Amino acid sequence: MTARILVVDDIPANVRLLEVRLLAEYFEVLTASNGLDAIETCENGKVDVVLLDVMMPDMDGFEVCKRLKSDPATSHIPVVMITALDQVSDRVRGLEAGADDFLTKPVNDLQLMTRVKSLVRLKSLTDELRLRASTTRNIGIEALLSRSFTSEDATPRVLLIDERKSSFERVQKMLRGSAELDIATDPHAGFFQAAEAPYECVLISTGFADFDPLRLCSQLRSLDRTRFLPIILLAEEGEEGRIIRGLELGINDYLMRPIDQQELMARLRTQVRRKRYNDQLRASVTQTIEMAVTDGLTGLHNRRYLDSHLQTLFDRAVARRRPLSVMITDLDRFKSVNDAHGHDGGDDVLREFARRLRKNVRGIDLACRFGGEEFVVVMPDTDAAVAEKVAERIRAEIAQLPFAIGQEGKTIEVTVSVGVSSVLNGADTVAALMKRADVALYEAKSGGRNRVVAKAA
Ligand code: GH3
Ligand code: MG
Ligand code: MG
Repeated sequence: MTARILVVDDIPANVRLLEVRLLAEYFEVLTASNGLDAIETCENGKVDVVLLDVMMPDMDGFEVCKRLKSDPATSHIPVVMITALDQVSDRVRGLEAGADDFLTKPVNDLQLMTRVKSLVRLKSLTDELRLRASTTRNIGIEALLSRSFTSEDATPRVLLIDERKSSFERVQKMLRGSAELDIATDPHAGFFQAAEAPYECVLISTGFADFDPLRLCSQLRSLDRTRFLPIILLAEEGEEGRIIRGLELGINDYLMRPIDQQELMARLRTQVRRKRYNDQLRASVTQTIEMAVTDGLTGLHNRRYLDSHLQTLFDRAVARRRPLSVMITDLDRFKSVNDAHGHDGGDDVLREFARRLRKNVRGIDLACRFGGEEFVVVMPDTDAAVAEKVAERIRAEIAQLPFAIGQEGKTIEVTVSVGVSSVLNGADTVAALMKRADVALYEAKSGGRNRVVAKAA
């Protein structure tokens, strides 16, 4: 894992100390000796994680953190605050300033690497999501990226997998009021529970008499439903080796027993906050992609989607020597519907037409709005004779049942013309297939409308 880490401390010896250890792990290291330089470096360079000393003259770490987190250009860069030992109030202040994590001086090697690696991994995930979200030009993306909209108040749902009563009761007490905590005492049952309910973090104790807790971690990481579910390991003193293997398996953080309540709450909060941020980012990317391939009026796929999928369906059919048919439908004299009932009346007809179309094709058929009042249905595994029957069924259903327009119970008669074509053996192409359907449609129109024409060849 290579990443660029910015170390900020006013004491050169402290900077050097961290630098040496990070370089030994093949990280790239940048340094700054004051807050302003640190902010400038974050604005200019590609910084993946900031290690930030709290106590600095002029501008202290809290202020630097606050500024980084309030600027959309730098707010996504993870910040680890380095506080003096036992300064619990510093940790709380740090988290309030927006810090993603904290380390206490003297910095323990394992903790340093854990925090940095976990944040780097998370940052690269976030970067990818940001990139995808911005390339699809989401309108709400700025608000999203500024983090401002993530709800931090909702009580997180947490699962603790721990078979020792004294231990889980202690955690239960510590989290009372700040998390909605469920407990699973059996690791197998705990795994399924984690997959089935919408938890935001899972705490796994290492103290099982007869079970390897890392097996559970790796299972959770390999299951789709729990791949992004944060895992915090509750380990015993002396289990460093196990923690390191856990980190390699993708756990997000760990706590050493005896567990400090402040630290537990802070680490949990950090994991949950990150998960919420990434979940929203992921949902927004998904939504943007969906919007880009969906027709807003009818909810069917749009032409862009057809263009990107028809070739694939075509190639698959040819490779498997399976039939494939397409139909193009075009509403008859639709312009006069608009003229008589207004554009909104026309839209009502289009929506209802799409509904009937969808109802009459199979789930594997690809139905899309090709543009205006033209629709295309691609039918895999369907030969010309069957496709013609489907088209006829659709034509009949449109003609037989009048369409409702507006709210006043007005109805009008609508008809549709359909052209059908099928993939030919030999040298056929998508363009030729579509052209034949189009020619067929033209024949249906010139032949009097409200009819289906199929082009065998
Ligand atoms: P034909 O039977 O030859 O197909 O006649 P037509 O009137 O349906 O054909 P034409 O292509 O001349 O007109 C299509 C009309 O569809 C023109 C356009 O205003 C209307 N239209 C296209 N998109 C929409 C839309 O989203 N909503 C509404 N209400 N009308 C639309
Ligand atoms: Mg038309
Ligand atoms: Mg038309």
